[in-house]
Amino acid sequence: MKKSFLIVSAAVLALSVAAEASAALRVITTTQDLAAIVTEIGGDKVSVESLARGYQDPHFVEPKPSFVFKLYAADLLVVVGRELEAAWLPALITQSRNSKLQPGGAGYFDASQTARILDVPTGPITRAMGDVHPLGNPHYWLDPGNGRRIAKALQGKLSQMSSGDAAYFAQRYEDFARRLTEAEARWKAALAPYRGTKIVTYHRSWTNFAEAFGLDVVGYVEPKPGIPPSPAHTLNLIHEMKRQGIKLILVEPYFDLKTPNAIARETGARVLVMPPSVGGVKEAADYLRLFDYNVALLISTVKSATGL
Ligand SMILES: [Zn+2]
Repeated sequence: MKKSFLIVSAAVLALSVAAEASAALRVITTTQDLAAIVTEIGGDKVSVESLARGYQDPHFVEPKPSFVFKLYAADLLVVVGRELEAAWLPALITQSRNSKLQPGGAGYFDASQTARILDVPTGPITRAMGDVHPLGNPHYWLDPGNGRRIAKALQGKLSQMSSGDAAYFAQRYEDFARRLTEAEARWKAALAPYRGTKIVTYHRSWTNFAEAFGLDVVGYVEPKPGIPPSPAHTLNLIHEMKRQGIKLILVEPYFDLKTPNAIARETGARVLVMPPSVGGVKEAADYLRLFDYNVALLISTVKSATGL
């Protein structure tokens, strides 16, 4: 009698643990930046996992079979959008057979919808000549203002999906927005002496960051976003950097340093490998710490490169 009672109790316990586990919203994001913001808002009411790692090129992530299973089991998929994931995500969504996660579905959330997007083409929309930014610049999370907008939109989405937790998500959004606003003032003050510093970047990843913090991006190692450097373009860039006295080349961690190093040798510029995403280096462990890390790194490099 007692033994069977214990067995039944164990079974009930197992069932309630399973129910508890499934009560949390299962969120999958494409990038660690989005996962970090989901965590800020969702807290322990959501489980969240990113498909790409922060040290990978988010345009070209190698799909793994495990991604399909993660998508199959998810309640919500959060994407950067603007075709950032166009090369690898659509096939995975189809293979997951999760109807909620199909574009337009209740569990598909495009974070670019409420963000401020730069570099939006004014002509016909095309991926002509391999430009991987046909719908505007998809690296928009590097503006703290967009971090705040994404967080607010996620608060709305999570509250809609789990209405009993709406007050909890609202409180967490307020806390995140307060910390972000304080940090943003600190970052802007620290970078104020370097406003107008002219830089070159490898990929067009830093457009929003440069606008937010007053840097002047005057050229790119890539001739077009997603197109590898060519000798003619590199020669033009070297000429322009010498003419304008540009001393800094920002390179995302996933690009080959051969061309940036060659340009640096010709121009006397410094090459700075800077992570554009949470998880790009271990110090950039969440959204605020990504900026903390990059602002400090940028200041120390500009100081030593220009003697300011
Ligand atoms: Zn890009």
